[in-house]
Amino acid sequence: MKWPFRKSDQTAGGQGQTLASGAPLALVENLVRVLPDPVIVVDSSGTVIMANEEARAALDRNPVGHHLSASVRTPAILEAVAAALSGEGPRQAELELRGPVPRSVDVYVAPLPLPGNTAFHAVMIFKDLTREQQIERMRADFVANASHELRTPLASISGFIETMQGAAKNDEAARGKFLGLMRTQAERMARLIDDLLSLSRIEINEHVRPTGVADLAQIARVVRDSLEPLARERGCEVRLDLEGPLPVTGDWDELMQVVQNLIENALKYASSGKLVEVEGRAVNGHVELAVRDHGPGIAPEHIPRLTERFYRVSVQESRSRGGTGLGLAIVKHILNRHRGRILVTSELGAGSNFTIRLPANKTS
Ligand code: ADP
Repeated sequence: MKWPFRKSDQTAGGQGQTLASGAPLALVENLVRVLPDPVIVVDSSGTVIMANEEARAALDRNPVGHHLSASVRTPAILEAVAAALSGEGPRQAELELRGPVPRSVDVYVAPLPLPGNTAFHAVMIFKDLTREQQIERMRADFVANASHELRTPLASISGFIETMQGAAKNDEAARGKFLGLMRTQAERMARLIDDLLSLSRIEINEHVRPTGVADLAQIARVVRDSLEPLARERGCEVRLDLEGPLPVTGDWDELMQVVQNLIENALKYASSGKLVEVEGRAVNGHVELAVRDHGPGIAPEHIPRLTERFYRVSVQESRSRGGTGLGLAIVKHILNRHRGRILVTSELGAGSNFTIRLPANKTS
């Protein structure tokens, strides 16, 4: 059956109209109102007679009282509705919703038989696919990125092996140099695999709340000491300003990893000879730890993307400092598990401030 549909069937619902039995339509109306997904009911003339709040929000208008084609123009949907009104279906079709953020919606269209009447209404149930599609895209991107990151050092190791078997076969000095370069590339692959495994372990546990107690002040001291060689190499001083013990409910090793990534980044990216300040305090039932550097800073357009996997302001600079592009993604996932947050502020030429905020542990 093609659009437009037949003239309104006066006995089959619509505003102010009742069914022969009266009750079922009111029941449908209540059901539509309480359902969490957008739901629309169309009468036999193609006029929308019910649309819950979610449907109005999805279409960005109130379609009730108007012909469905005034709000939905996708031919596949209109055909599915026409079929449902003649008792066929259910059918499914995809709808692209425009708006500030375009969304992809799967629409399930089914005939709604009317008791005591030969006509049908059509019910349309929307399912937002945007999130699913985003996750699918992210998964595909992640696999592509991880493979690319591993393939680069692998290709350079293969290249060195080839040279050592060929041109540099009898060149002792060149062999020594190439072995050193191969070792650097192998270490890079090992770091990447460690970070990937770390990320996957944290993601598996992300929904399990940690139960232990960890003192962020103590963690900051341990991390400062363990990074002393890097600080010396970079000519930086890590200065701590910690107000008392700062207990949070959390996993000691994971929180160590968070603080270590932040201080290590401050040392890696800050200009040589500059101070790295670590400030910890308790504020309103929370614990805050800020890591501030006086490095080159980060341009505002990069800041919201820093915690994405493999996102780097400069891939070259990150690689030259032994980075994998996964450190801040690991930080974000650990903080999610701990119901914590990270706030990044930065000014180009002045430095960056990475502040983490976690609920304080009140029992210790
Ligand atoms: P990486 O392994 O590359 O350091 P991260 O996830 O830890 O990966 O950080 C992502 C990117 O954020 C880095 O490559 C760098 O460009 C930027 N970044 C992180 N911390 C700082 C900082 N303190 N100063 C300047 N840039 C930073």
